[in-house]
Amino acid sequence: MSTGEANAMDRAAFLANVSGLVVKIGTNALTGSDGRLDHDVIVALAADLAGLWRREQIRITLVSSGAIGAGMTELGIKTRPRDLPMLQSAAAVGQGLLMNYFAAAFKPYGLHVGQILVTRYDFEDRPRYLNLRNCIHALHRCAALPIINENDAVAVEEIRFGDNDLIAAHVTNLLQADLLILLSVVDGLLDAAGGVRPLVEDVDESVTQLVRDRKSSRGSGGMGGKLLAAGTVRTAGEPVIIANGKVPGIVRRLLAGEPLGTLVLPGKRRLSARSRWIGLTARVRGTMVVDAGAAAALRNNKSLLAGGIVGSDGDFTPGDPVAILDASGQLLARGLSNYSRADVEKIKGHRSREFARLLQCDTWYDEVVHRDDLVLEP
Ligand code: GLU
Repeated sequence: MSTGEANAMDRAAFLANVSGLVVKIGTNALTGSDGRLDHDVIVALAADLAGLWRREQIRITLVSSGAIGAGMTELGIKTRPRDLPMLQSAAAVGQGLLMNYFAAAFKPYGLHVGQILVTRYDFEDRPRYLNLRNCIHALHRCAALPIINENDAVAVEEIRFGDNDLIAAHVTNLLQADLLILLSVVDGLLDAAGGVRPLVEDVDESVTQLVRDRKSSRGSGGMGGKLLAAGTVRTAGEPVIIANGKVPGIVRRLLAGEPLGTLVLPGKRRLSARSRWIGLTARVRGTMVVDAGAAAALRNNKSLLAGGIVGSDGDFTPGDPVAILDASGQLLARGLSNYSRADVEKIKGHRSREFARLLQCDTWYDEVVHRDDLVLEP
């Protein structure tokens, strides 16, 4: 059996039970050589996705780029603007065009489309994050395909992802979808000889060094961004496929196990929904540095106690996400702190029986970060 055949067989079995799917399509895959949205590509993608939705009851969420590119062409802007208000304007014009195309393309299949525009806040803030999930599930129940893009018209630097591959990764983790497919205009991750690498077992140095491109021409991703996104999803425990969105029927063909694109295998552990948010999506508000004893305890799934903390940084309050580092600065875990930074500074190095005196309080938590609120680095 050739490698290709073996890969095809393995993949068909491996992907047989996909019922929740996130597909991301990039700007270049959606636009023609004239820079306009490519009607044929959008119609073909809709046929591909609607077929899977209708025939196989696969619940699909689409993350679509293309707004800025479409807006640029509509406004006669030749090269991607560098000043943010112009990018915002291009997105504001292009996003409507994009959704009109998608709505028309899905209509013949009896599928609605629902636009969701997000910023970084919507992922970092836990109630907003859960609201986003609720909205996507409700759209699915209404036979409406959620189509997500960054809210580029309002997303200024500090609340911007700037990269839909990463948004698609966080959406996949949010939904605990079974698979993320990243579609662009490349056939997959190319190896040193220029052939598509069918399988990636881990997104490590040997893989990231294969990245040649830096940026795509009208979008913002590139292969580096795709691998970062794939790493985020595989760490949560789900697979990713990077493939060419211009190939007809690509999504159906991938799910049927055809040896197209690059399959990135999931990591060994599958994180719970809450751990995905704590470990991969929430923005840490500060850091705690721990001694060797506490580092070993954490690795044994123990809670973080004040006695092992030697320092802290940042500005966190109770309930905030923090990063936990060893003395050399290596990230050990992320977790939710039971204490503010000011209180951590008072109790670090001490036992909990001293907390009443140190904090001037009657009740306290023994753990600074409880093990249920901790996610270890893989
Ligand atoms: N949100 C951008 C757009 O719709 C695309 C960002 C990206 O290419 O990752 O044009």
